[in-house]
Amino acid sequence: TFRALLVEKGEDGTVSASVQELADDRLPDGDVTVAVEYSTLNYKDGLCITGKGGLVRSFPHVPGIDFAGTVEASTDPRFRPGDQVVLTGWRVGETWWGGYATRARVKGDWLVPLPKALTTREAMAIGTAGLTAMLAVMALEKAGLSPPRGEVLVTGAAGGVGSVAVAILSRLGYRVAAVTGRPEAEAYLRALGADTIIDRAELAEASGKPLESERWAGAIDSVGGDMLMRVLKQVKYDGAAAAIGLAGSAAIPSFTVIPFILRGVSLLGIDSVMRPRDERLDAWSRIATDLPLDKLDDMVSEYGLAELPALASAVLEGKVRGRTVIDVRR
Ligand code: NAP
Repeated sequence: TFRALLVEKGEDGTVSASVQELADDRLPDGDVTVAVEYSTLNYKDGLCITGKGGLVRSFPHVPGIDFAGTVEASTDPRFRPGDQVVLTGWRVGETWWGGYATRARVKGDWLVPLPKALTTREAMAIGTAGLTAMLAVMALEKAGLSPPRGEVLVTGAAGGVGSVAVAILSRLGYRVAAVTGRPEAEAYLRALGADTIIDRAELAEASGKPLESERWAGAIDSVGGDMLMRVLKQVKYDGAAAAIGLAGSAAIPSFTVIPFILRGVSLLGIDSVMRPRDERLDAWSRIATDLPLDKLDDMVSEYGLAELPALASAVLEGKVRGRTVIDVRR
């Protein structure tokens, strides 16, 4: 048997989650069985635990979009019992049973070896949020970003993606501006490497102007909506913004193409879920060198499976700071 957070839907449509002991034959088909050690909590996990957003279609379900652990059994020649592995994305935890369990069974194509420099706990302190932040930095570099070009803006900065983005950019020598709605997070963000703190209220409202003063060499945005439009209007000539998330809103009511056609600004789309394996390996090896692990410690809180339902509500309300690691054995 194994222990898991099982999400069930009652006949009246209400969704509830509880820790249960399950028989091994309930695991999905797959090539590799993993003894999970750590998982994480991302915004998307909040949706999957509470049944919101229509991501989970089939119940009962085990959420957890990330996990790290040790291979127990494998019919995939790339993995052997005892190997340490990491999984992020591929819709595991959404359409496939995921990491909120002491055991998971997945396709070998979805797994990457744990980078040598990291422990399973560190890999999950990074998780999808950190991997996505790294992918965004890599996309901005490909678009021409480098430290001499100027300050880089990070929105949703005290969240998971934002915290890791601030730490990586600062380590790479960028000046970093952090947008947050939580004034009490200032010391935390400065410790991660933020040079400038910007109150969310300054960028929350749509601006009637077609363009604003050029301020940012690049931006990493987890918030979307009118805030992303404000950011695009402030990106310097030939700069770029990476769109990662929709913590504020998916729609941009104030959308205008003016920054693209008058300033050559680029909007880069970042998806971590279906990223090809080679790019994931590249991103994980960049993380191992470019993310200061001591800063990672400062952004991590650790919980067990039973605490997930309460954490899910908190992450959806934007109340979780930094990264949350789940020790599934607790
Ligand atoms: P998170 O930890 O909850 O962080 C989101 C942050 O956004 C919050 O901490 C808050 O930061 C800010 N925020 C929340 N509500 C807001 C609002 N109404 N207006 C403005 N700011 C708001 O979530 P996460 O795991 O970092 O994920 C962030 C976003 O990226 C989510 O939308 C997620 O779905 C998306 N995402 C996408 C990918 C991908 O592959 N593209 C991968 C990972 C995540 P402050 O408190 O500092 O203001």
